[in-house]
Amino acid sequence: MNAPFDQTAVTQGPLRQVQPELETLLDAAIDGVMIVDHKGRVRLMSHAAELMFDRQETDVLGHNISLLLPDFETLLHRHVISFELSINPLRRSRSLGQHHETIGLRSDGVRFEVELGVGTIRGIEPARYVVFVRDISERKLRDRALQRSEAALHTAQALANIGNYVIYYDGVTEDYASPQLIRMFDWIAADEDRRLGKLTNRMLAAVHPADRTLVMNAFSDLDSEAVTIDISYRIINTKSEISYIHHLAQVIRNVHGRAIQHVGTLHDITERKLADYELQQMQNRITHSGRVSILGEMATGIAHEVNQPLTAIATYAKACLRLMGNNDCTTEEINATLEQIAQQALRAGEVIRRMRSFVRYHEANTEPIECEHILKELVQLAQTDAHYHAVQLVIEPSTETLMVQADPVQIQQVLLNLVRNSIDAMQETVDPNRVIVLRTCVNDAGEVEFMVADRGHGIRAEIAQELFNPFYTTKLSGTGLGLSISQSIIRAHGGKLWHDANPGGGARFFFSLPRVGNALTSTSNKRY
Ligand code: ADP
Repeated sequence: MNAPFDQTAVTQGPLRQVQPELETLLDAAIDGVMIVDHKGRVRLMSHAAELMFDRQETDVLGHNISLLLPDFETLLHRHVISFELSINPLRRSRSLGQHHETIGLRSDGVRFEVELGVGTIRGIEPARYVVFVRDISERKLRDRALQRSEAALHTAQALANIGNYVIYYDGVTEDYASPQLIRMFDWIAADEDRRLGKLTNRMLAAVHPADRTLVMNAFSDLDSEAVTIDISYRIINTKSEISYIHHLAQVIRNVHGRAIQHVGTLHDITERKLADYELQQMQNRITHSGRVSILGEMATGIAHEVNQPLTAIATYAKACLRLMGNNDCTTEEINATLEQIAQQALRAGEVIRRMRSFVRYHEANTEPIECEHILKELVQLAQTDAHYHAVQLVIEPSTETLMVQADPVQIQQVLLNLVRNSIDAMQETVDPNRVIVLRTCVNDAGEVEFMVADRGHGIRAEIAQELFNPFYTTKLSGTGLGLSISQSIIRAHGGKLWHDANPGGGARFFFSLPRVGNALTSTSNKRY
């Protein structure tokens, strides 16, 4: 069976003494057709085969087919065995199994990829074979280019942690999920996953229960309207690990507007989320330490403020003792003295409560706040320090009620920092100029503008650019962080912070915040 074909050429006439129909059929065939005898000699070559191998039939006839298909013999031997074993005597000819890919050789020595279909013509002794040849070199080139671009896409997706999918609505075509998407969800065996049904269900099943409604609503919006979805949510993979996903998708419709495909991209943004969260925590801690630091600067004033009611309490207590030592004192007199003690204790308690609520650590959280109200609260907080330094705090009333969406503690921190700086700048200012004016108004851009103006030593032009740099300070015990923290707080609120010279002397600091409607009542969980 494995005896080699005869390699010598034989001079035999063409096998074309067949009917003209067959001849026409052979020459019209798009694939090349050849007939080979039991020794591997070419007995017939169609016109398409001539073109493919760039040879004339007359030059090839009687020559061994290895001239055109160098591996044909090996191929035939390999498959003839299995063919002979499964031969069906009722059929006149039988294909040798699958089509085979091998190499073709042109007359100029150029090799090209071909696909062969080989069949034995039965009932003829010795055996003859029909060989169908198709030039697949271009298809192979395309396939390889496609494979390369798919491999590049998969690598890029793996690097960027992006997966994509296509869901088909025809009920027939199988949904597509890219390898990176499968990795993202940790779907192990593709077959196992398929049993779970449509890709949409598989994805939904992995969505964190708290985010599922969001995703389901987005999917149903997508199906009903021509919109794209752009959502972020959490998924839980099969190892119970949580990942943050940014999901973009859109539905593709046919000319009649019917949805035919849903295509989407999922980006695993877990690392970015964690980094954002850590950055946020860091910012919260810096902002918090800024507050602690301001309070440290105000410590002398606070001690003074608390000392006053304590001294008063001691004085009233002594007076009370004296009264009780007098046999002729009335209950009313004692009650009045105790009432004074209680009031002074509340006053001291209030100072401490304000300080504690200002300095406590909290996660930034915005809410609608009324601007003049926040100025009034600020004055209460800063009054202690201002009194101590003989500085007057004046609020210029606003003509209308202005609202901003902000974290009240952080805005107070900015204002307190500006007020503290103004107090420091007015150390040398003489009365009656030791006044700080606080004001809110609407600027030309429609934003709410806060102002803190003083009559201090002002800001020299050469340092004006430096003030907001972290650690820039002109004070002996300054940290140089107040303005830089204030600037990042205001930026995080969507506003800006700046200063100019106060006409008539001193400095003015301003910050703007987007104005919101007065009716706004809901809180937002945006983090700063
Ligand atoms: P610190 O108060 O610890 O110095 P800041 O960042 O709050 O840090 O301020 C930086 C510098 O800006 C101050 O040292 C001071 O020189 C200047 N500065 C801030 N506010 C005023 C003001 N109202 N008048 C004059 N100089 C000011």
